[in-house]
Amino acid sequence: MDPASSAEMFESVENILKPYKEGFMSFKQLPEVGVDREEILHEMEKLKNLEQETWKEGFVSGAVYHGDENHIDFLNRIYAYHSQSNPLHPDVWPSTTKFEAEIVAMTADMLGAGEQEGICGTVSSGGTESILLAMKTYRDWAERTKGIIEAEIIAPTTAHAAFDKAAQYFRMKIIRTPIDSDYRADVDAVRSAITDNTVVIVGSAPPYPHGIVDPIEELSELARKRDIGFHTDACMGGFILPWIKRLGFDVPAFDFRLPGVTSISADTHKFGYAAKGTSVILYRTPELRHFQYYLTTDWPGGLYNSPTLAGSRPGALSAVCWAAMVSIGEKGYLRAAKEIMNTSIWLRDEIESIPELKVLGDPLFIIAFASDVINIYQVMEVMTQKGWGLNGLHLPPSVHICVTLRHTQSGVKEKLIEDLRMAVEYVKENPAASEGIGPVYGMAASPEMRGMVTEVLKWYLDTQYKV
Ligand SMILES: *Cc1c(COP(=O)(O)O)cnc(C)c1O
Repeated sequence: MDPASSAEMFESVENILKPYKEGFMSFKQLPEVGVDREEILHEMEKLKNLEQETWKEGFVSGAVYHGDENHIDFLNRIYAYHSQSNPLHPDVWPSTTKFEAEIVAMTADMLGAGEQEGICGTVSSGGTESILLAMKTYRDWAERTKGIIEAEIIAPTTAHAAFDKAAQYFRMKIIRTPIDSDYRADVDAVRSAITDNTVVIVGSAPPYPHGIVDPIEELSELARKRDIGFHTDACMGGFILPWIKRLGFDVPAFDFRLPGVTSISADTHKFGYAAKGTSVILYRTPELRHFQYYLTTDWPGGLYNSPTLAGSRPGALSAVCWAAMVSIGEKGYLRAAKEIMNTSIWLRDEIESIPELKVLGDPLFIIAFASDVINIYQVMEVMTQKGWGLNGLHLPPSVHICVTLRHTQSGVKEKLIEDLRMAVEYVKENPAASEGIGPVYGMAASPEMRGMVTEVLKWYLDTQYKV
C-alpha cells in the first residue's frame, strides 16, 4: 500500500468512527453544573435516530437479531423495572437469581439436557465471557484432577477469536487445527493434535466465519474416549439450530445428546433475541461448574463468592433475557427460524446464480461467498458505499452475511441481491475500484506484515477512545 492511499484509508476510517464533530454535546471534563435532563434526552434521541436506520432496515449482517419495535419497547420496560438490581446481592434481589436459574434451565432443556441429571450453568455477559469461563474451568479442572499444569486447548482455525483470548488471559496453549474442503473442522488433524496436556477440544455450531457446523459427534468422541473436556461453541447457533432442526433441516448433532459434550456456550443476545449483554454457559456436571466459581474466605470485606468474571452485574439484563425467552416461547422461536431459513435459502440460491461468485460450503443461515475471478473486497467496498454492512473474512478472502429477522422484512433480500449484482458488474468494469479494507487483510495474511497490522488494530481501538 502506498503512503497516500493508506493516509486516505486512515482518514476515512476515523471519519466513520468519529462522525459527531459539529453540533453535538461533547465533554472532556464534567460539566460544572449538570446538563438539563430534557436536553440530554433530546441529544440521545437524535443519536438513536441517526444510528438505527442502518440496522433497522436490514442493511447490517448479524448485529441486531430481532429489532422489531414492539419487542424492543417490551424489553425496555422490563429493563426499567429492574435497572437497580444486582445478582451480587441475591438477598435483596432474589428475583434476579430466579430469572438466571430459569434462563439456564430453559437453555439446557433446549440443548438436549432432557432427562439427564446434573446439567447446569450460569448466565454471563456474552459469548466471549462464556468461552473465557469455560476455558478457565477446564484449565483448573485438569490441574486439580489430572495434575496438568501446561494446559492445551485444541480449536479448529474457524473457532472464535475468544478462544485465543482465553489462552492469552489464562496462560494456556492453543493449538489451531485446519478445516477441510467443506469448511468443517478436520477430525484427523484434531486427533493428531491431542497430547497429554490437552484439557479441552473445541467445536463450533456453527463457527462464525462460514457458518457450517463442525463434526461435533466425531470430535466429542475423540475427547470422551480420552477423558478430555469437549466444548461446543453454540454462541451463534444455540438458539436457532434446535428450531431449524425441528423444521426438518439437516442439522448435525451438537448438544448434550452427545455424551462427549461437556460444556456449551449459547448466546441469548444473538438468536435468543434478548438485549445485548447476556449469554449462557452450560456444563455437564455441577463438579465442573465449581471450577468456574470464584470463592474467598479471608478477605476483610467478608466471605466473597462470584460465579462469573464480574463482581456486580446488571440484573436488569437477566430480567430482560428471561422476559425475551418466555414472551417468544417455542412457537415464536420456531417461526423466527422458519423466516430466517426461508430468507437464507433464497439468498444462497441467488448468490450462487451470480457466475462470478461462489458460496463456501453448504451453509444454513450464515452465507459466506468468495470469487475466483474478481476481488471480493472490491465487491464488499461497493456494497459498503451502497449502505450495506457485510462482514469481511480472510484466509481465504471472502465476505459473509449472517441472516437475522431484520433481513426477513419485505424487500430487503431482493435489494441485497440487486445491489450485489450491480457491485459485481461495477468491479468487473472497474478493475481499479477501491478495495476498502482489503489491503489490510492482505497484509495480515503475510508473516512479515502481520506486526504492522497489529499496530493498525491498536490505532483502531485508540481512535475509538478519542474525544
Ligand atoms: C458471537 C460469537 C462469539 C462471541 O460472542 P460475543 O457475544 O461477541 O462475545 C463466539 N463464538 C461464536 C461462534 C460467535 O458467533
